[in-house]
Amino acid sequence: MTEIRGWAAHGAGKPLEFTCIDVGALGPEEVEIKVEYCGLCHSDLSTKNNDWGMSQYPVILGHEAVGTVTAVGEHTKGVKVGQRVGVGWNASSCMHCHQCMTGQHNLCAEALPTIIGHQGGFSDKIRAHWAWAIPLPDSLDISAAGPLLCGGVTVFEPLAVMNVRPTDRVGVVGIGGLGHMALKFARAWGCEVTAFTSTEAKADEARGFGAHHVVATRDADALKRAVGSLDFILVTVNVPLDWAALTACLRPNGNLHVVGAILEPMSISAIDLIFGQKRVSGSPNGSPPAMAAMLDFAARHQILPQVEHFPMSRVNDALEHLEAGKARYRVVLDPDFA
Ligand SMILES: [Zn+2]
Ligand SMILES: [Zn+2]
Repeated sequence: MTEIRGWAAHGAGKPLEFTCIDVGALGPEEVEIKVEYCGLCHSDLSTKNNDWGMSQYPVILGHEAVGTVTAVGEHTKGVKVGQRVGVGWNASSCMHCHQCMTGQHNLCAEALPTIIGHQGGFSDKIRAHWAWAIPLPDSLDISAAGPLLCGGVTVFEPLAVMNVRPTDRVGVVGIGGLGHMALKFARAWGCEVTAFTSTEAKADEARGFGAHHVVATRDADALKRAVGSLDFILVTVNVPLDWAALTACLRPNGNLHVVGAILEPMSISAIDLIFGQKRVSGSPNGSPPAMAAMLDFAARHQILPQVEHFPMSRVNDALEHLEAGKARYRVVLDPDFA
């Protein structure tokens, strides 16, 4: 028996409570990690509130954990005790389906989200399948690296899988936790980058993160000037948008790509897609090889999120801060267990 101590949700909408959960013996392919930092992602809030109808309580939230491996199961490969690793949205997958065997483990039907039916990283220790414990490059500052493991790979992976080229013009919609990392990645990818934001106060910061241009989405004239200007638009917000206005900003063959979990159906005119041969697509987080590639790229270009730290015991304040839209731009929790 192993007890994990952490901050758990016990029901939808309730504040997190300090809780001990028995997670049993370490599995033969599992590793155990002492948590040093854990990012706070909007999906933690959605899981706490059961927004997607699949939460399982009690659950220790947190799925952007960074720490040191303290124990490994007998059949663990590639990860050693003492190694620094990160765990993101998923903690395991089947490892034998077509998706897992082709390096797309994040598309595995049996992929186990770290905070659904599994205990997450707002804790003293976290477990994951060895393949999902991703080694961290030494040159990345671990106190800020946590958010790369979910938010970071979520906005990096579309550049790779949707074949975004360095000659492309890329728009990023929503300059928040995901969007500010997307600006940094797209800029380092070589693209001409446009930030779309409804918060004009973020314009200068968006330029600081790498945007060449900023479009205020509340300014109808600014939106009109952006018509037909972009090859790829990455939507990082989770609220419905003016889809007609955004698809109009695409060049022919352009692609509107969604990574924000918008709960409402997206209403998009077929005519707006047919003329100009445009596409709409989406993608979820990333596989272990994609996460490793993202971390390698982030280390090479020194891409890290801009973070605010909270002690883990103030997790409920941090959740409130995030929910109020005040996070600039990503929150990291520091374990402070006695
Ligand atoms: Zn996340
Ligand atoms: Zn699989």
